[in-house]
Amino acid sequence: MKRTLLGLAILMAAASLDAQQPAAPAPANDPIRTLVSRLDLEKYKATVKGLTAFGDRRQGTTRNRKALDWIEAQLKSYGCANVERITYEYKTNPPRTGGGGGGGGQGGGQKPPDPIIASGEVRSGPGGSRYRGTTRRTGVNNDPMRQPDEKLRALNSEPAVDGERQDVYCTKVGSTRPDEMYIIGAHMDGHGWGEAANDNGSGTALVMELARVFSSPDVVTDRSIRFALWNNEETGLNGARAYVEQRQKLQGKEDPPGSGRYPEPKWLGMVQHDMMMWDHGMPRADGTWNPEQRPEADVNIEFQSDSKHSDEAMKLAFHFRYANEKYATDYPAAVGPHMTNTDSGAFQDIVPSISLRENERGMHTGAGWNPTWHQPIDVFATFSDKDFRLGLNAAQTTLSGVAQLANARLK
Ligand SMILES: [Zn+2]
Repeated sequence: MKRTLLGLAILMAAASLDAQQPAAPAPANDPIRTLVSRLDLEKYKATVKGLTAFGDRRQGTTRNRKALDWIEAQLKSYGCANVERITYEYKTNPPRTGGGGGGGGQGGGQKPPDPIIASGEVRSGPGGSRYRGTTRRTGVNNDPMRQPDEKLRALNSEPAVDGERQDVYCTKVGSTRPDEMYIIGAHMDGHGWGEAANDNGSGTALVMELARVFSSPDVVTDRSIRFALWNNEETGLNGARAYVEQRQKLQGKEDPPGSGRYPEPKWLGMVQHDMMMWDHGMPRADGTWNPEQRPEADVNIEFQSDSKHSDEAMKLAFHFRYANEKYATDYPAAVGPHMTNTDSGAFQDIVPSISLRENERGMHTGAGWNPTWHQPIDVFATFSDKDFRLGLNAAQTTLSGVAQLANARLK
């Protein structure tokens, strides 16, 4: 049997996780399997649908603030403890020339994207990635008239105004290690004159669904888990950066002393979710796309090989890949080293950080393989059950992966 270097790296990662990852088949009373079964396609779809009621949820607008209120009310209704917000100021930077900044990619893009056929030269994408095959132009739609639904156009018409912004989060408090936590995140803002159903209603709903399952009164975890919904990702990860700035220094401090309460448990890892549903493959040579989910669709788990904690982040990525193999019902997961352009970037040099997505952010998303990205067609009605099911499988992956890490069980 030939062993490649990567193969060896995988084996080493596997060996180091043996303690948490028994190879034997799960017993029938595996509590993690029970928790995974509490996720459900219809509930996931309903949560995405709920978010789309607030249009594209652009930062700095009433529709964004109303979405935040709705998310908070949902988290409370799940019984998630200590729903909290952090507040920060956001001021628009003067536009940069040369593009490429921000979270999801800024810029004009008023015309429908054109196909560009690969000519074989090496073209690099973000995060250390390399484009291959057919690419399509990407950008953020700024043209209201490209939204044919008049009601949605009106809902999205209020422009962003600089000023106060908020993130919202809630926490499952660990029973024996309340001073340590994993952060499970997604950004709740969007743009492009659609409903931001995929970017990022799909990730926001995933985090909310996990908050629901872990908040059930019969679930106990050793370590804490925080469910965080970031604002201002699309303007450059500003909500996640504000969280890091305000709370990094509070980690692991008991407050008040002797209370057993840790407002900011020590960060053990950060798992971000951003665009979870669309994996239809490479665009066709004429620039059109496959209308259905490709049967080979997968969840892409990425770490950043250039980050301070890249080795641990790689192990964390493979931990979630193994969790997928054991617990996800339909779609597999793949690991890549080019995590980029999402809120986990704000954490990657502080703690091991990974992102879960429908595609690799560089090689696939950056190459324009998701035609709904920041476009008016990013609405609930665009997506089929096969698309929603990919998001559900990512939810199964993160739920089971973090349940193992936090040692979740049933009372
Ligand atoms: Zn996004």
